[in-house]
Amino acid sequence: MKINDKQLKLVDRQIKRIIASGNYYSEIYKKAGITGVETPEDFEKIPFTDKADLRNAYPLGIQAAPDEDIVRIHSSSGTTGKPVIIPYTSKDVEDWAEMFARCYEIAGITKKDRIHITPGYGLWTAGIGFQAGCEKLGAMAIPMGPGNTEKQLQMMMDLGSTVLCATSSYALLLAEEINKRGIKDKIKLKKGVIGSERWSDAKRNYIARELGIELYDIYGLTEIYGPGIGINCSEQTGMHIFDDFLYTETIDPVTGEVLPDGEEGEIVITTLVKEGAPLIRFRTHDLSRIIPGKCPCGREYPRLDTIKGRSDDMFKVHGVNMFPSQVEEILGTVDGVSSEYKIDIAHDESKNRDIIMLTVEADGRVDFSATADTIKALFKSRLNVTPNVAVVSLNTLPRSEKKTQRVFDHRGD
Ligand code: ZN
Repeated sequence: MKINDKQLKLVDRQIKRIIASGNYYSEIYKKAGITGVETPEDFEKIPFTDKADLRNAYPLGIQAAPDEDIVRIHSSSGTTGKPVIIPYTSKDVEDWAEMFARCYEIAGITKKDRIHITPGYGLWTAGIGFQAGCEKLGAMAIPMGPGNTEKQLQMMMDLGSTVLCATSSYALLLAEEINKRGIKDKIKLKKGVIGSERWSDAKRNYIARELGIELYDIYGLTEIYGPGIGINCSEQTGMHIFDDFLYTETIDPVTGEVLPDGEEGEIVITTLVKEGAPLIRFRTHDLSRIIPGKCPCGREYPRLDTIKGRSDDMFKVHGVNMFPSQVEEILGTVDGVSSEYKIDIAHDESKNRDIIMLTVEADGRVDFSATADTIKALFKSRLNVTPNVAVVSLNTLPRSEKKTQRVFDHRGD
């Protein structure tokens, strides 16, 4: 969806505010000769911003409002280097709660609900976002934070929690515990609001079935308020994103070219009214697509499809861009193969070509050599590359609680 006139006016106002503030981005815009935007073409000329910029501006270089207007900061840890600090004005805090309350409403949650909040409270935006939205809606917040499963389940039973807010991993753990203890009939949960990340249908179905709840994916990131900037409705046709606060585009993660609605790429978000730390064209590195057309629910907010992965995880072989999600899709169709895999990429100097080595796990009832051939053929037909494939026994590849590194690039080693 092209940026509309109302959104353009808001971006123009943001740029003028940024320049007047003298913050980190004011220098970038001054150097680029950007003074404002009048047309969608002007907008597309504004350079992207990235997490690296936010780190360069550490701690408060992106602040665009006077100190006396800042009421809170949040921080995203990041895996490497300096954290990122995001300052908020009272209006930013209020706007975020407004969006979050809308998310709950879209999920059919009302004032009568009791919302069990397990994401963490602290520097990051998780717990406090769920809480502020709940209070704005007028429901009862049960601010548990993570951990202490014993107490979680006790409170859930005693207070009759009706909504569970959690990561998919924690929701799974609670579902397993409830199942193990046989206390399902004492649990009153009806809905789950789950922080959006890539999670398998198997996991989703298990949680929904074991807890007997409807699941809603909530989207957000610390740099852009936090969780609660979008959620799927009961039609389950993508997450509605609030376009009165945010403008969302999709780009080719390599060329930066803006893609039409419906095409998969990297999601880029512009904050239209944020005061403390406005961001124009922020690269989220989340891979998804904007779903074209209108949602059957009748809401006009544009929809974002499920997050397919991270553009940082993309790798290039023989000049072809590949994503872990494509590898997972292929492996998901092969009988007896687990979802764990490892990819090593090397360069054969003598032949001047890239070599891709794929290691996958399979259970003992399938023929490893035939399985390897099947995978090779699937890669050839779907991605036009032929990897070397090693099939190993189940549980050979390392597991990790956090994000597992699956792609190892040895070119240039
Ligand atoms: Zn809808």
